[in-house]
Amino acid sequence: MSLRPFRDIKRKITKVIKVGDVKIGGNNPISVQSMTNTLTTDVKATINQINSIQKEGADLVRVSCPDEESTQALKEIIKNVEIPIIADIHFHYKRAIEAAKNGAKCLRINPGNIGDKKKIHDVLGAAKDNGCSIRIGVNAGSLEKDILEKYKEPCPEALVESALRNIKILEDQDFFNFKISVKSSDVFLSISAYRQLSKVTDYPLHLGITEAGSFVSGSIKSSIGLGTLLLEGIGDTIRISLSDDPVQEVKIGNEILKSLNLRNRGVKIISCPSCARQGFEVIKTVKILEEKLSHITTPITLSIIGCVVNGPGEAAFTDIGITGGGKGSNMLYLSGAQCEKVLSKDIISKVVHEVEKKASELNKK
Ligand code: SF4
Repeated sequence: MSLRPFRDIKRKITKVIKVGDVKIGGNNPISVQSMTNTLTTDVKATINQINSIQKEGADLVRVSCPDEESTQALKEIIKNVEIPIIADIHFHYKRAIEAAKNGAKCLRINPGNIGDKKKIHDVLGAAKDNGCSIRIGVNAGSLEKDILEKYKEPCPEALVESALRNIKILEDQDFFNFKISVKSSDVFLSISAYRQLSKVTDYPLHLGITEAGSFVSGSIKSSIGLGTLLLEGIGDTIRISLSDDPVQEVKIGNEILKSLNLRNRGVKIISCPSCARQGFEVIKTVKILEEKLSHITTPITLSIIGCVVNGPGEAAFTDIGITGGGKGSNMLYLSGAQCEKVLSKDIISKVVHEVEKKASELNKK
């Protein structure tokens, strides 16, 4: 059981593109992506990190390809992972061609950076031949010189003009399999740029606040920036940029989508901050449960509330609930109804058992 959203978000219906078997745009689920920070030439470390990112619930992973050794390594990496890989190219057209031939399912490259028409033609040819899409990634920190001169500073209009310029280059070459981002480290600038871009194009949008910062500040900035846009129905795929483990980026991305009921993957925990009334150690319990239930991908709601002040009310709208009681005697709720008393020492094992049982029941349906 879960609360009916008070307000359904009306998503803007964009064109649909594919990155491997992941559809982006239209009514498809908003995908979550992250990026490796290992040396791409360290194939083993990169494969391990990609697997960890995927295990956390990512749909796509981006890998940097700054040189030929990296695009060579990419071939080996792609053979050994199950998730579609996006090659981060930025400038050199040869790296883009190599990455497309070596199995990348998307290239992050701005056609305006590639150079002359022949090079652009060759990159797009390699992308088409290998079923590879493209992300135009406009960034406030690397706008074209003439656009920067025209607008004097990075502003929403400048980001959108750069995006439209890059879109035109691709469309002129009959290439339509792309998505676009207009990122900035400034929340206001990013929101305004994405809003304006969304009005003038139907291509899918990749949302992100770039260089958002450390785990705490970056997560907050991203939640405000991406949350605002997602609430307005803008955005088809997201990446949270943190100066932290990429696995954390996926965790935050999924939590943002869960908070907005845009994508309910895994266990959504509702828990109280705890206080002197708590019947068991709420904070410790939630931390352990988060870890122990991270393998569950089925959408399940779970309330962990320290006492009867709010416990029964929250449990009424969750699949599984625990409410703290006196003398370590706590109440387990299933589908909103009281079920049985649980001693504090048994809460973890009982909740894990019930969540796994519920997940298995739901998966059979
Ligand atoms: S639900 Fe109970 S234990 Fe939790 S914060 Fe509120 S009063 Fe305290």
